[in-house]
Amino acid sequence: MTPRGWALLTLAGLLAALVVAAALLVPWHRPPAPRADQLAALRDLPAEQVARSREFRAALRPGGWAGLALGLLVALVLGLTPLGARLVELAGRPFGDHWAARAALGGLAVLLVADLLTLPVAAWRQTILTRYGLSTQGWAGWAVDLLKSYAVSAVIGAVVLLGFYAVTRLAPRWWWALGAAGAAGLVVLLSFVLPVLVEPVFNRFTPMEQGPLRTELMAMAARDGVPVRDVLVADASRRTRAVNAYVSGLGPTRRVVVYDTLLREATPDEVTSVVAHELGHARDRDVATGTLTGALGAAAAVVALYLLGSAGPLLRLAGVEDIAEPRAFPLLIALVTAVGLVTAPAQALVSRRVEARADAHALALTGDPATFEAMQRRLAGVNLADPDPPRWEYLYSASHPSTVERMAAARAYAREAGR
Ligand SMILES: [Zn+2]
Repeated sequence: MTPRGWALLTLAGLLAALVVAAALLVPWHRPPAPRADQLAALRDLPAEQVARSREFRAALRPGGWAGLALGLLVALVLGLTPLGARLVELAGRPFGDHWAARAALGGLAVLLVADLLTLPVAAWRQTILTRYGLSTQGWAGWAVDLLKSYAVSAVIGAVVLLGFYAVTRLAPRWWWALGAAGAAGLVVLLSFVLPVLVEPVFNRFTPMEQGPLRTELMAMAARDGVPVRDVLVADASRRTRAVNAYVSGLGPTRRVVVYDTLLREATPDEVTSVVAHELGHARDRDVATGTLTGALGAAAAVVALYLLGSAGPLLRLAGVEDIAEPRAFPLLIALVTAVGLVTAPAQALVSRRVEARADAHALALTGDPATFEAMQRRLAGVNLADPDPPRWEYLYSASHPSTVERMAAARAYAREAGR
């Protein structure tokens, strides 16, 4: 069998594994709370809060979609015309057209150009966050964050680009197999190291101070059977007024993180409710599931890019001979961007199901639907979330159930528990 035949077989195997993993690990069977309950919840929210949130979301919307469209346009122009290949050549020229210079500097130049062209949209978004009082950051802080994220991306990007193009040179016929394994390994590695290497670049994390709340949270984690070494507090207030919490990392790097804004804004019972939701993620191994599906997806993507990349018309458009050369990197980015936009609704759907399961866990663990609902109201109020967003937007990009869905789920739980 030819390498191409093996690649087709491998891709079929990876996609089958992805489907099986998604079928087994994603809680598909959980239907949302009845729409009538959601509408009742919506009526119970202060009209003024709903109106202000919707005004804020409407203000953000044009920029959000413009950013997606612009990002796609830039990727397509660089990838499906010889412009991108020209840029990679230019970056390598001062270094005698060495492949490593083209791979690392050329690749980073393509990513930087795409970032710079969408920068005005990001700046415009920041002006809206500031106007509505959600951002607590001046332009200097915003720019420092931006430079930090460029630096982190440049370091990770250079390593990945050099590794990838070294492999394509060493194994011109089988690079896709090594690349797929490498991509999967990289996803797993990043899940481990992001919380300890990258998150501290942007925020300071301190153990939650001793006191009744911390004692209560640790006792709840123990009751839940989730080994939690500590609850960490992130200094999110340097950037935002928004409240949040999350769980990240795997095994020894797993941590539950709450924003300092949450501790400031919410009552201790509400913080407990949020942490109960995060414990649900930890208990159901949602980070591990995300890592596994991400690793399978990344491996499948490398093989698919190899197969797509051997299509003559695409290579001719990009003005390159071979998908495995650094000059074809913009073509890879164009394909990845397009696929990312197309698969976004599926990723959002999976995320919403997983989040709904964590909500159910929080309700069962705390047995306190009233506080859960109060917390959802507060989250929506402080974060200016549209409690019942437009359907199309919800289906395309919502990573969490809507506020009215979550409130209705709490009411459904209360009814069941009262029975
Ligand atoms: Zn969650």
